[in-house]
Amino acid sequence: MPTAALPASAQAAAVKANEMGQVPVIMYHRILDRPELPLDRSGAELYAELTRLAKSGYVPITAAQLAAGWVDVPAGRHPVVLTFDDSTPGHFGLDAQGAPKPETAVGIIHRVARENPGFRPVATFYLNEDVFGLDGAQAAAGLKWLVQNGFELGNHTVNHPDLSGLSAKEVAREIGGMEDRIRALTGLRSTTLAYPFGAVPRDKGWRERYPFKGVFLAGWRPSDSPFADEFDRWAIHRVRSEGKIKENDCTKFCSTAWLDHLDEHPDERYTSDGDPRTVVFPKMLEDRLAKGYLPWARVY
Ligand SMILES: [Zn+2]
Repeated sequence: MPTAALPASAQAAAVKANEMGQVPVIMYHRILDRPELPLDRSGAELYAELTRLAKSGYVPITAAQLAAGWVDVPAGRHPVVLTFDDSTPGHFGLDAQGAPKPETAVGIIHRVARENPGFRPVATFYLNEDVFGLDGAQAAAGLKWLVQNGFELGNHTVNHPDLSGLSAKEVAREIGGMEDRIRALTGLRSTTLAYPFGAVPRDKGWRERYPFKGVFLAGWRPSDSPFADEFDRWAIHRVRSEGKIKENDCTKFCSTAWLDHLDEHPDERYTSDGDPRTVVFPKMLEDRLAKGYLPWARVY
């Protein structure tokens, strides 16, 4: 085992790689023509935010990739995770030709990717029992389309309860029931979970039965790097997409404020060296590395 990080390549230093920096995990709810509730966003607002991300050098990865520390974005670019909660109809549906409906979140993600080469069209969908309002056969076909096209299916429980108020048995039923539903529709298990309302269950017994790679909260700041000592894969932070949110000060804590902050403080943001098999960062950050990643660490 090495006792100190090896030196980074000149190219990694030239792009100011910092794989100890923060990663925005943006949380979206309903996508509608006309937003009704504070967390809703219009299709135009989603398009504008994704275009901003693309123009600022962000490349989407899935929540599972972040949690597993597999951040494969080009040198000098920044990972972002797009998450959509509650599997509402505005997220996804296929048209008669089998293409994603253009007004849905998936349609808008594909449009931004077409207009901005290098913007990878992937996202993570945190599903509840009602899957995008699709009936049985459509739901199965739709979920398979998403998986085949690089999207991740995540668990958001069957009925979207506040898990902090439930018994261990009820928590296991909500999480396990949704795993069963995803498996029945796709043959797959999910690898990440998002807590409804970001509320954490008191009993942690379910973790052994459902060993997710990552579990996501509901706010209020970007995620730590998965290679940083402070990263906790059972409590990964997300940022709410902008909106008119009463209980939360969006001038500080929603997506626009955080993206502005990371643009103004590029040293705080995750910047890739282009090689997902190494963890590259300035030497002064060495203390923050999670010990297990030392063999892959490269410093400059
Ligand atoms: Zn939710």
